[in-house]
Amino acid sequence: MKPRGVDEFEAIGRLFAPLTDGAPEALGLQDDAAVIAARPGFDLVISKDVMVEGVHFLAGDRLDLVARKLLRANLSDLAAKAADPWAYFLAVAWPARCGWAERELFTQGLRQDQDAYGLTLLGGDTSSTPGPLTLSVTILGWTPEGRMVRRAGAAPGDRVLVSGSIGDGWLGLAAARDHLVGLAPAHVAWLADRYRLPQPRTNLIAFLRDQATAAADVSDGLLADAGHVARSSGIGMRLALDRLPLSGAATAWMGAQPDPAAAIASLASGGDDYEVVCCVRSPAVRTLVETCGLTDIGEVVEGDGVLASWRGRMLDPPTAGWRHG
Ligand code: ADP
Ligand code: MG
Repeated sequence: MKPRGVDEFEAIGRLFAPLTDGAPEALGLQDDAAVIAARPGFDLVISKDVMVEGVHFLAGDRLDLVARKLLRANLSDLAAKAADPWAYFLAVAWPARCGWAERELFTQGLRQDQDAYGLTLLGGDTSSTPGPLTLSVTILGWTPEGRMVRRAGAAPGDRVLVSGSIGDGWLGLAAARDHLVGLAPAHVAWLADRYRLPQPRTNLIAFLRDQATAAADVSDGLLADAGHVARSSGIGMRLALDRLPLSGAATAWMGAQPDPAAAIASLASGGDDYEVVCCVRSPAVRTLVETCGLTDIGEVVEGDGVLASWRGRMLDPPTAGWRHG
């Protein structure tokens, strides 16, 4: 528990006020609200994610890693929108099992990643709960006016690109639960780490702002999130899953699957990748792809929905993707 004699206000002052880094908007966390001055020529881009113990992270996970995953899941949304990360608001409902040491570990994780990604805390809310640890961050970022990259905007002829590697979040959850048998321990450890600590693609912000006609964060599963772009843009997509970028660990896992087509469909449908799927019109796609670590996985076509193939064979209609809860 809190050190004896520390009330909730003092706890906020000790745990969270330092994370404002003196930002004037936060008013030292001593007012009812923060206040943000408008920036002429810019748009404030706002996104929110909730994470619940047992749903988005495992009950035994270290709370500094949980805090970092919470920020990173939100950062992934900003990256996909080509917005520069700036600040965040935090809501926490603590179960009784989270004593002072756990709370401090949690704030250490926030400190580490807010410094790494250039964020400051501007406010939030704190409660206790008889249920699981429940967390939510509202993240704020800036774009030049009118330049947020939306899900809508892709057109026939665009290429579909994806960042990083796909399927590691889904495999990583299985790894973190010790459900991946037969895979080398180093691969299992790498995948579990990828699940616990995703890598938001903030390095792609400038590229996406200049080149992407549409983009989405890949957190529900590539096929579902590509589907969101297709629906919002009013187009269809043809994706060649043979081109799906796979990590060494996922490649090793694929090699041991009896039904590779079903296995690739699972990787393309699993959640928690925190990559970016985007559409690009530029004729210079190939060069861009090489310099940015993106992979060309298909094309935008007239029509609706996402058609996925593997080795020339159409896969069954893609599953709807992972839905939390
Ligand atoms: P209210 O009673 O209006 O909910 P609180 O007393 O909860 O206000 O909050 C007081 C101040 O502390 C506010 O500035 C609020 O933003 C801040 N605060 C409370 N909880 C958190 C938190 N988990 N993270 C960051 N700031 C917080
Ligand atoms: Mg409150």
